[in-house]
Amino acid sequence: MTVSSWTTRYQGAVMNTFGTPQGVLVRGEGAYVWDADGTRYLDLLGGIAVNALGHAHPAIIEAVTAQLATLGHVSNFFASEPQVELAEKLLALLGHDGRVFFTSSGTEANEAAFKATRRTGRTRIVAAEGSFHGRTMGALALTSKEAYRAPFEPLPGDVSWVPYGDVEALEAAVDDTVAAVLLEPIQGEAGVVGPPDGYLQAARDITTRHGALLWIDEVQTGMGRTGAWFAHTESGVVPDLMTLAKGLGGGIPIGACVATGDAATLLEPGNHGTTFGGNPVATAAGLAVIATIESDGLLGSVLEVGDVFRAGLADHPLVVDVTGRGLLVGIVLDRPVAAEVQKAALAAGLILNNATPERLRLAPPLILTVEQASDAVRTIRRLLDEVPA
Ligand SMILES: *Cc1c(COP(=O)(O)O)cnc(C)c1O
Repeated sequence: MTVSSWTTRYQGAVMNTFGTPQGVLVRGEGAYVWDADGTRYLDLLGGIAVNALGHAHPAIIEAVTAQLATLGHVSNFFASEPQVELAEKLLALLGHDGRVFFTSSGTEANEAAFKATRRTGRTRIVAAEGSFHGRTMGALALTSKEAYRAPFEPLPGDVSWVPYGDVEALEAAVDDTVAAVLLEPIQGEAGVVGPPDGYLQAARDITTRHGALLWIDEVQTGMGRTGAWFAHTESGVVPDLMTLAKGLGGGIPIGACVATGDAATLLEPGNHGTTFGGNPVATAAGLAVIATIESDGLLGSVLEVGDVFRAGLADHPLVVDVTGRGLLVGIVLDRPVAAEVQKAALAAGLILNNATPERLRLAPPLILTVEQASDAVRTIRRLLDEVPA
């Protein structure tokens, strides 16, 4: 079966929410994937920041296989060992006491946090323009993009958006009626947009002053992607709520809502639930991802390999800026050709993403090597050279 015949079958059977797929992948190993025609690609997108350890990593295979052979699923009437261990581990990485609610995706992690904010007795949420927080009705209500929300109104209300990175705007928007301020430490779907230095600290000050929660969405930026366990770590702030997913399971679906301090007890018995969240197999995968990032020194390597992209692309005449940190890389172009470059890259054996018309996004596996990154930089530069003037 070829890519083309699978694509035809896909279009006859799978709901058309994503448009025509760019290909049909059949196999992966390390930072590479292969399509149904046997073509190999270097995966610079990692399933959108998900495949932290690349494809078919032995640590994940082993952990998932062993757990599935031991105990694959229990209801939430029971606890399981990997669930407790992963919750403890995430709190240890955050460096604070708290409690974790496990989910199966990022949107559900945000849904849980959203419900927790309602338990403060306040309803107003202040989020940022350009933000993306997911597609369930609750998470969608928090997402700034009008085109995503409009067809599904009415959504849960009382959400407003302020320009991202603008401390004065945040200051003006937050008062004693606000339940929470919700921010990504780097906006991923917006094309890897970071705030100015000091923004998260200011957000922490403002929320503390008004008795509001600070909720940081680390679904895309967390779990080592920026060279730290969490992208907000270097700011020194402690969020009341932090949401995780994507890289956490290295490809096994899992998300988490991590709450610290008083926020940890906002959700009480009966307030929330999920059948699959915190499943033993998914949490075992999470533990394997964390253990491998630690044992292989990937946080340091992420910074080193990220610098290959930054140093290698910044001086190209079409490149205005290279944004992000570690292996969350935004390539800002001086013209709206990101879609063309993405297509040309795919034809040249590179998977990357055109997040906006002017911005390419890279979120490769954290195991990407300097050599693979250098090869990719050479290819991307050549493709940029070939963009018609
Ligand atoms: C991807 C993403 C989500 C949604 O996660 P899903 O697993 O797709 O539901 C939420 N927030 C951010 C910042 C994301 O990047």
